Amino acid sequence: MSLLTGDTHTPRHYLLVPPEATPNGPLHLGHIGGPFLWSDMIARHLRVRGDLPLVITGSDVYESYVALKAHAENSTPGEVAARYGQRIQDDLTAMRIGVDAFIVPDQQPWREQFEQEVAASMERLTARGAVLTRTERVPHCAVSDRWVVGGWLQGRCPECGAGIASYFCEECSAHFLPESVVEPRPLLDEGPLTWREISSLFLRLPDRGLLDTTLVDLGVADRYRATVARFLERDGLTVRLSAPQTWGVPLPGSEPGVPRALFPYAGIFMFARVAGAVHGRLSGTGVNAFDPDSGVTTLTTLGVDNVIPTLVSIVGTSLLHGDMKPYDRCLINNFYRLAGRKFSTSARHAVWAADIAASPAIGVDTVRYHLAGADLESGAASFETAAFLRTANATLADGLGKRIDAAWSRLPEGLPQAPAPAVADLLESLLAEQSAALDAARVSTRRAVAALDRWCADDAVAHAAEDGAYWWLKGLSLLAFPVMPDLAELVWQRLGGAGEPRTAAFLARTPAHRDRPAPGFGRVSAADLDACLPDTLRPGADA
Ligand SMILES: [Zn+2]
Repeated sequence: MSLLTGDTHTPRHYLLVPPEATPNGPLHLGHIGGPFLWSDMIARHLRVRGDLPLVITGSDVYESYVALKAHAENSTPGEVAARYGQRIQDDLTAMRIGVDAFIVPDQQPWREQFEQEVAASMERLTARGAVLTRTERVPHCAVSDRWVVGGWLQGRCPECGAGIASYFCEECSAHFLPESVVEPRPLLDEGPLTWREISSLFLRLPDRGLLDTTLVDLGVADRYRATVARFLERDGLTVRLSAPQTWGVPLPGSEPGVPRALFPYAGIFMFARVAGAVHGRLSGTGVNAFDPDSGVTTLTTLGVDNVIPTLVSIVGTSLLHGDMKPYDRCLINNFYRLAGRKFSTSARHAVWAADIAASPAIGVDTVRYHLAGADLESGAASFETAAFLRTANATLADGLGKRIDAAWSRLPEGLPQAPAPAVADLLESLLAEQSAALDAARVSTRRAVAALDRWCADDAVAHAAEDGAYWWLKGLSLLAFPVMPDLAELVWQRLGGAGEPRTAAFLARTPAHRDRPAPGFGRVSAADLDACLPDTLRPGADA
């Protein structure tokens, strides 16, 4: 009974960093179902248990796609980043994804902190001999005076031949120099390209054995270690640190007429360190969470497309830094698809988080429960409309909702009796099961949902003589909180609890507000869901 009595649990600090979203569009369920839902479920479970997690993320403002979007909208990168950065925060709030700090590196107070961290990290890495200067050939358009790199450059991947834009291939995850792009051409028809020789900064990575050993220690799956090994094989143990772009944090030593900015992929290392410092202030520990002796468990959640930036740039650079620990956990999810195809912001093949959250018929809890049921740790999964409607109606409205109704009608008047020992034991074991699924080097949201489902289906608990209905509902709120926070909080508070569900307050016998209606789920029709679906899923759309 350690968790439920709370007497043996010393609260532990955690820093959770879902990746910074690129502020060039709103969030869709593909973004939400992966790194954001994972970090939110982990944080909520830790809070239930009495630990002290903080979720810190932000906006990847200096991505070249932000400058591209600004060009398309006849705006400025700063304005586009501010507008979509706010939209991203609103989308997260709408989906009940809790964020304790949202770092926007081009705006105060973050700007000064970020630029100081960039300067300090560059100085330290240079002093340790980890920064190389190399010449490379880069396309430039004299008419528009644009360095045609990043999202501005299109062509084919030198490794696999797939169509690419930017410095890496989404198909095979190869990274390459602009000069290696096959059939390079500018995205815009803005005039002829001339190839100019410039000097750029690269990071010399640590010995590949050391990096691989570290990844083993972090519990990174073999397939992702293989991705990293292939990258290191190809790129000769270096990663880009600077790019000739005007939108970014300037780095010293540029040549006349050639901008030199921090490469956004390298910037995620400095971003993580700023998140570590912010954690120190917000948590009261007073130290950067990445300090070797911080006592803080640090973890990041990421999609498979961020394996190289995270495992090479962040973990690799942490090893070079010399006075920090890398992330303790890198939790990698496979892609969440929509009707079998990749979510695509540009092709508008997406269910937007804001749309489904605003639906009068579909609750955010229902969406989260459905997304959490996918097992993105072991493979890709897909949002299918028929399966979603089954979850909303058969599993939740007609299943769990009716069980809640029935239990509500059996709530005791006044104070409940103490729970039967078997009830507390089962709850304790299912909470431990959720810890194993969420507080671990490999995360399984499906396993966390399965623990909740087992409790929900347990008739012995709900009908136990000692006011079983009361304790079943209260246990439900602890196990459901990571997945369905609105339902969990409502049940908890209507049973007389204060604030959020907590294991330490479980055994407190509080009188239920029996006069209030039972929380539940409305039914969702195909038309309700249809209102949130993109044109790409309508009859007659190209498959
Ligand atoms: Zn490729």
